[in-house]
Amino acid sequence: MKSREIHLVKRPSGMLDASCFKLVENDVREALNEGEVLIKNLWMSVDPYMRPRMNDVKSYIPPFALNTVLDGGAVGVVIASRNPKYPVGTGVESMNGWREYFVGDGKGLGIRNFANAKPEAYLGLLGMPGLTAYIGTKVLGKAQPGDRVYVSAAAGAVGSAACQIAKAIGCTVVGSAGSSAKIDWLMREAGVDAAFNYRDEPDYQTALQRLCPQGIDLYFDNVGGLALEAALAVMNRHGRILCCGSIDDYNKTGAEQRGVKNLFHMISKGLTMTGFIVFDYMDDYHKPFAADMGRWLAEGKLRAHETVYEGIEKAPEALIGLFTGANMGKMLVKLGELD
Ligand code: NDP
Repeated sequence: MKSREIHLVKRPSGMLDASCFKLVENDVREALNEGEVLIKNLWMSVDPYMRPRMNDVKSYIPPFALNTVLDGGAVGVVIASRNPKYPVGTGVESMNGWREYFVGDGKGLGIRNFANAKPEAYLGLLGMPGLTAYIGTKVLGKAQPGDRVYVSAAAGAVGSAACQIAKAIGCTVVGSAGSSAKIDWLMREAGVDAAFNYRDEPDYQTALQRLCPQGIDLYFDNVGGLALEAALAVMNRHGRILCCGSIDDYNKTGAEQRGVKNLFHMISKGLTMTGFIVFDYMDDYHKPFAADMGRWLAEGKLRAHETVYEGIEKAPEALIGLFTGANMGKMLVKLGELD
């Protein structure tokens, strides 16, 4: 059986572009050994962290190797099995995205029930991005009713979940995003109290001072750079900053990475700044996350939005699109149908 996959063939320097990727067709073995399963991927996730992982630097996760298939989150279905734990038809989540089919030995496969939620939801609100928002907002951010919360990249997968979780907790929420359509969605669908388009209003600080007249108690930072600097200036005493991502820096090198110039606010206001990687919290918080998200969904407090590219060949374009704002909500690539 043939399977198409995407290889990283060149490390990007600066902005990611299509020349870094190659579409490759491979044979997938159909004669399974005892314990093996053949999986058809249905959906794959593209995520901003993949860009820093393309640099050849030591980090919390090893860099991607060149000239081999990329990996990333995916949901799929077992189409042949010699493993009793995963009968044919089982929905599974894996880190074996960026390919259409693969043979697995059962390791690294999480069973997902597609009767409870549509397959792609496990890559968005109910999956890693939703958990990231939950950890940053509720667990580490300790959001309380009445808190004034600011979320940057608010219309993305993590940001839109963070906004809605904070609203569900009873916070006042302000978001920023890069288009008027995203601002409309945040106000009308996600229910934030105020939002601004940072492309129309690049002076984040002036916008935040206008929209947060009582200051910010909790800043959920997806962007870094100017957004973080502006939030520092508008934070209330003893406020909390949750450093989730710094997407403004991911395609920059050397002097282009501008840094933050006003860290003295940390001292003068007694702020705390907490960075986190969601993978460190998956085991401990999986259950409370599922319980809270299930309740908020049933109460109509959470809405998912997805941007979908069709076909494995579109995966590089989808990934690049994260850095140009092409997505609203979770960026996904659809790889196949659930037959
Ligand atoms: P998103 O769905 O938010 O997609 C990225 C969005 O970022 C784009 O749509 C774009 O929207 C915005 N953006 C891109 N470049 C810039 C820029 N220079 N300045 C401001 N906004 C920009 O992605 P995710 O929800 O998956 O991830 C959001 C953040 O969370 C990322 O920084 C990511 O690395 C981080 N993250 C961290 C995790 C952790 O464990 N700490 C886990 C998962 C994600 P717009 O139109 O608004 O510009």
